[in-house]
Amino acid sequence: MADIVLDKVSKKFPDGTTAVRDVDLEIADGEFVILVGPSGCGKSTTLNMIAGLEDISSGELRIGGQRVNDKAPRDRDIAMVFQSYALYPNMTVRENMAFPLRLAKMDRATIDQKVDEAAKVLELTSLLDRKPANLSGGQRQRVAMGRAIVRQPKAFLMDEPLSNLDAKLRVQMRTVVSRLQKQLGTTTVYVTHDQTEAMTLGDRVVIMRGGAIQQVGPPQELYDHPNNLFVAGFIGSPSMNFLPATVEEGRLRTALGDLPIGDRIRRELEGADAPRELILGIRPEHFEDAELVDEQTRDRGMEFTAPVDIVESMGSDKYVYLTVEGGRATAAELEELAADAGAADFAGAGSNLVTRLSAESTVTEGEDRRVWFNLEKLHLFDPSNGRNLT
Ligand code: ATP
Repeated sequence: MADIVLDKVSKKFPDGTTAVRDVDLEIADGEFVILVGPSGCGKSTTLNMIAGLEDISSGELRIGGQRVNDKAPRDRDIAMVFQSYALYPNMTVRENMAFPLRLAKMDRATIDQKVDEAAKVLELTSLLDRKPANLSGGQRQRVAMGRAIVRQPKAFLMDEPLSNLDAKLRVQMRTVVSRLQKQLGTTTVYVTHDQTEAMTLGDRVVIMRGGAIQQVGPPQELYDHPNNLFVAGFIGSPSMNFLPATVEEGRLRTALGDLPIGDRIRRELEGADAPRELILGIRPEHFEDAELVDEQTRDRGMEFTAPVDIVESMGSDKYVYLTVEGGRATAAELEELAADAGAADFAGAGSNLVTRLSAESTVTEGEDRRVWFNLEKLHLFDPSNGRNLT
């Protein structure tokens, strides 16, 4: 087993594209790290450099303390699992899993023992004599994982391994991957573009954009303390609402009302060149139907009234889309600011607010509804650079 260290690693392709820029990342021995970000952000290139499938243009890569920039993939002692599982169709499950061990010229008895162990962990024992054609998609992907784990490599690298599976199977396989990683304790780097997968799987999540790391941290930390607009918009579903906010006479003027400014933010805004126009971020789940908020909780937030556009009942809760007066005039401008700063998905633009209210709410489309929101959960961003000031 081994730690993996990327020290100012960059990748410039011959056509001039810089796919990865000065990436610094320390992955501890046994850690499960997820690389996530929109298409083209450089996550696969980063993984391929760790695997040795792409050269490193500059910087240093160390696995288990050793510089491996110039080591061939097969000498790095790592196993890769891809989205297309490429099993050999003429071989049985057992033969497929045994393949890398046979290549390594291991003796028959050891191979059988290792395959049996891996099959047990992956619940494939009863399928060992089948051919891939007679397996479900999830079972095939488990065989592909089995082929990676029999070798007991120093690390697993996985590139969107579940993205070919249907939604339900993907959720099931997530638990398989997660359990497997814990059981084996092998350092794992896992690439996905799916923020839900990122949030549920890893010890730590690395959010990338445009070849650079935006933020690294445990999932809950990224959700609670996104350090910029991009991370705030990328993590969470439905995504965070963004609204214009103007600093005026010590308060924040917004479409939801005038909000108090806490001491810490006040200090941030004291300088003469401090921004006067900010972006307010509120997650959908930090709203509630005002009728359902108890006295104690009420004091932690504020209320406003808005026309209800659409109600989507999800069973456990309701997604309620509101039209916020006054936000509309600056929505286009705000959208541009947020796009510049890199907000991924601009929910809330056009002054429509996405809220997630309790299932017990009797809210109906077309009415004006009183809605509460939690003042302790607000985020404020500087539109000039996207930085979270809260
Ligand atoms: P996706 O989720 O779509 O797979 P990604 O985040 O994995 O995206 P990469 O595949 O790492 O992104 O690509 C990063 C950037 O490098 C992209 O802009 C891509 O077009 C570019 N790129 C990738 N391979 C090459 C190549 N061989 N030559 C030139 N540019 C490349």
